[in-house]
Amino acid sequence: MLVKTVLNRVEHFKSFVFIAVSFQLVNGSEALVVEINARANSRPECPECGRRGRKYDTMPVRLFEYVPIWAFQVFFRYAPRRVACPEHGAKVEALPWAYGKERMTISYQVYLARWARRLSWKETADIFKTSWDSVYRAVRFVVEYGLANRSLDNVTEIGIDEIAVFKGPKFLTMVYQLNAGARRLLWCGPERRVKTLLRFFHEFGKERSEKLRFVCSDMWAPYLKVIAKKAPNALNILDRFHIMRKFNEAIDEIRRGEARLFKAQNQENVLERGRWLLLKRPENLSDKQTARLGDLLKLNLSSIKAYLMREDFQRFWEYKQVRFADRFLENWVTRALHTNLEPMKKVAKMLRNHKALILNWFKAKGQLSCGAVEGLNLKAKLTIRKAYGLKSLKCLQIALYHTLGDLPEPLCHHRFC
Ligand SMILES: [Zn+2]
Repeated sequence: MLVKTVLNRVEHFKSFVFIAVSFQLVNGSEALVVEINARANSRPECPECGRRGRKYDTMPVRLFEYVPIWAFQVFFRYAPRRVACPEHGAKVEALPWAYGKERMTISYQVYLARWARRLSWKETADIFKTSWDSVYRAVRFVVEYGLANRSLDNVTEIGIDEIAVFKGPKFLTMVYQLNAGARRLLWCGPERRVKTLLRFFHEFGKERSEKLRFVCSDMWAPYLKVIAKKAPNALNILDRFHIMRKFNEAIDEIRRGEARLFKAQNQENVLERGRWLLLKRPENLSDKQTARLGDLLKLNLSSIKAYLMREDFQRFWEYKQVRFADRFLENWVTRALHTNLEPMKKVAKMLRNHKALILNWFKAKGQLSCGAVEGLNLKAKLTIRKAYGLKSLKCLQIALYHTLGDLPEPLCHHRFC
């Protein structure tokens, strides 16, 4: 079978024909080069307005890299025409296999981008003997296409969170769609500022924002204000895992303080390597860890008191009715305020201050899964780690949209991978 026959099966361009396929040297290595001609009666298409016009002249031949086969690089070879558009003047014609000045064909870009979702960008470049920059351009192209062509209809539930990136106190604000069956990254922007979230709502649009039914967020005051203002019809829910994170931060602070004290008094640090014992839920511990935790629980330590207070609070989430949950929360807060554990008292005050929003969790129960935010965050962190070496924020945003955005791809006649 001729390569041409295969090509006609996977790519069919109405106004163009595959002429011949031959081996040629391209950049010092042997490659399969596919000659393309415009059909004799076809007229070139203006890239600005899409109208076909008279041929103005012909440009020098160009090579367009295509999906490799059998470890050979494949190129399309074509001399683009210029169209004489009555409106736009002489323009290089629009081609169905590549955009603008790009040397890679659309099929090849989509192909590279698909691999770049599974492998790191560097691995993808190595395997396909191309540059990191080409892989980046391919992913960027696919992401930009996806963002321009995705649908934002029916987004009624969102989750807002931030993740740390690079070194130092740098954050990305992440906005996820949480509707069942459509969980994806909607937007990500630098820093955790009022301005950041305002920018999301601005880009998302007023009409869509008004249709939001649930917004799940942590209790960072400036964000709560923006949400109340910009998503007036949404129930703002402070999510379970955001709240329990505050408990863990408090336990950790107390544990560090005690460990410092042991050191100062030259005592044995019984809390050494105890961090995860205290931060994990007891059901997630191994047998050995459970035994160690049992030993620790016998000691009269502030860290242990804080740990038990957290475990006690877990019962809060089991309530079915808001008023009982409310009563439990009040009791717990009162008890906590009577201890001498400053970080826990801080948590208690925070719970009381945000009670109304926390209780919204019960109102939305069964309708919204904020837990999805945690899962999406984990994936985002993995992407960031895999994309290690991406220095610019723009690269990182593109990598995140690529893996988490569930974006539509440019139309490719054939799926290669
Ligand atoms: Zn035109």
